[in-house]
This record gives sequence, structure tokens and C-alpha cells, in this order.
Amino acid sequence: MPKPDPLSPYRAKRDFTRTAEPPGTTDAPRNQRGRKAPTLRFVVQKHAATRLHFDLRLELGGVLKSWAVTRGPSLDPADKRLAVEVEDHPLEYRSFEGTIEAGYGAGTVMLWDEGTWEPAPEVDDPGEALAKGNLKFVLHGQRLRGGWDLVRMKPWPKERQPQWLLIKRHDAEERPGEGAS
Ligand code: MN
Repeated sequence: MPKPDPLSPYRAKRDFTRTAEPPGTTDAPRNQRGRKAPTLRFVVQKHAATRLHFDLRLELGGVLKSWAVTRGPSLDPADKRLAVEVEDHPLEYRSFEGTIEAGYGAGTVMLWDEGTWEPAPEVDDPGEALAKGNLKFVLHGQRLRGGWDLVRMKPWPKERQPQWLLIKRHDAEERPGEGAS
């Protein structure tokens, strides 16, 4: 049996004759699955949709795992930010900037930060950590650096999209009292 295409929900929401967003390749590279991959990329895109938010995307398993961070990441560990899980995006989305004219997510997308990421040293399998609802990771970006936690909250009844908290860990990169957005 073929494995389900993780990009199906992404494609189902979009009409690629009407948006400049990439449809993504069906055979995205799968060779970076697993632990300690040194070249995993991340991106944060500022998305002026109906409601301004910041999309955090972490490369894993050949797709970009994605969260809409409503108020943007904060460098203050006390300032936990809501991160709503959204559908996996294609790797090509990492460099997407521009205006989504119509349909899902209409509005302007700007690159806000980019770089590489890695699971925290104690994380054996980042995919498994995400499935369990708690990923500790390290960002090497321009704006966002150091250790971070993504923690999934207990689901509300009839919740459509899992809600997580994005939390800066205590380290040399923290900036208490300072949001990022
Ligand atoms: Mn978005």
C-alpha cells in the first residue's frame, strides 16, 4: 500500500491556478528523517492574512511541519505563545514570499527568519517527540536562536486544529521582557 501523501491536506486547500504558492513535489526527499540531521531548515514567515500571524515551519521527513503562531515567537521564556498546528507544507514553501491573491490564507507572506534547526540533545527521534506532543529543539536563525519547546495542549472538545505553546527555553539567547514581534 502506498503511504498517504502528507501534502494532500495542503493541496486540497489551494487552487494552484489561482495562487503563486508552490504545489510541492510528490517525491520530496526523505533522506533527512531521523536524528541529528545537521541540515534541517526552518523558516518563519510573517503572514498578513485576515489575522496577522507568524508561520513557524520546521523541516522534517521531507515536509515542513507548520504552526501558525498568532502573536509571533517571543524571546522571553515567561511569554508562552499560542501555536496552532496547521497542515504540512512542501519544502519549496521555505522560500515563498508574495501575495496570496485569493482563497485559503489570502494576504501577504514575508520571510521573517530562516536558518537551520536541530532536535535538542536529549531528543532521539523528533518525529516521535512531535507525535507525543513535546519537542525540544534548537534554532540557528537570525532572529531566533537557542533552545525552544513546542508543547501540545490538552485538546478542547471538537477542536479542529491541535493547539501548542511555543516557549523559549532558558539560555544565553533568552531576552526576558522582550517579545519578538
Ligand atoms: Mn499562515
